[in-house]
Amino acid sequence: MTHSGPGDINGEGAPGAAVLVIDDSPDVHRILHARLRQENITFHSALTGPDGVAMAAAMNPALILLDLDMPCMHGLDVLAMLKADSATHDIPVIVVSGNSGPNDKVKAFDLGAVDYVTKPFEMTELRVRVRQALKMRQLIQMLAQRAQIDGLTGLWNRSFFDQRWSEEYARAVRYGHPLSLAVVDLDHFKSINDTYGHLVGDTVLCGVARILHQECRAHDLVCRFGGEEFVIVMPETTPEDAAQVCERIREAVEREVWERPLDRNVTASIGVAGASRPAEIGEQEWVDTADRNLYAAKKAGRNSVRWTDVGAVAPSVRAANE
Ligand code: GH3
Ligand code: MG
Ligand code: MG
Repeated sequence: MTHSGPGDINGEGAPGAAVLVIDDSPDVHRILHARLRQENITFHSALTGPDGVAMAAAMNPALILLDLDMPCMHGLDVLAMLKADSATHDIPVIVVSGNSGPNDKVKAFDLGAVDYVTKPFEMTELRVRVRQALKMRQLIQMLAQRAQIDGLTGLWNRSFFDQRWSEEYARAVRYGHPLSLAVVDLDHFKSINDTYGHLVGDTVLCGVARILHQECRAHDLVCRFGGEEFVIVMPETTPEDAAQVCERIREAVEREVWERPLDRNVTASIGVAGASRPAEIGEQEWVDTADRNLYAAKKAGRNSVRWTDVGAVAPSVRAANE
């Protein structure tokens, strides 16, 4: 991703889809390389199963072409290893093998191969099968990404947040890096719906989503948590910096001039929980703290930011504009 909201997936239709060939025969590598040259493919070669497994995990290729008869590890064992590891599980594998009997074919498909081509292969056929596998992977990625995008605002949705927050939390704890989380809730949003109708309410939600997207940095993750509530995951960000970003967001929302019929300013309350060095606080407790700060901001009159350094010896709730 290159920005704070969902972006284009790195489509395999793009030039240079990485294809990893795992085959003990250098001739096969040479032939495939030469004959699939026009296919916008970047070839990577592994001459043994263990090398292939390691390369697949390191480079996450778009497709693997896998031989079966190899000296130090059989291709079916390679396939089983690839499918057992979450880092390589989703990479499509086409088995390219001299064994044409039904046994290996059945085993390969059972283990999760997407296709099986028999050597000596007909180049035009292999080319079509490679294209198909790449196209299928692209479609699957697109669908998976759509399932994580909020339909109204185009921001990441709650399910994406749940997954990424766990990952960012784990990363920050492991490396002792700063991390912050902000919960943004629109003030008196119900009365906007009640006064102007749901369609105008929806326009406001989209407008706020755009402001959040504009005000956040490239590596922040802006998500719609549900209703008129948003969350922003801010990796590598201290609570002080996160509070400043949120104060900027609060001001931008308040400043926004909305189209008629809306004749009032929209405001937001924001709760932030962050730490320069995450340690003691749990993943859920962190979210709860941001949420409590949001309600402290509401209670203090709304249109304000409250934040806590959860890594501090004695964490306290502070106002961003103090
Ligand atoms: P507070 O300042 O305390 O946050 O008050 P509020 O009115 O913003 O909060 P409340 O939770 O009472 O109301 C939230 C409203 O948001 C109620 C609900 O109808 C509305 N809402 C939730 N999702 C959507 C949506 O997708 N579109 C529109 N237009 N409204 C929505
Ligand atoms: Mg609200
Ligand atoms: Mg709410």
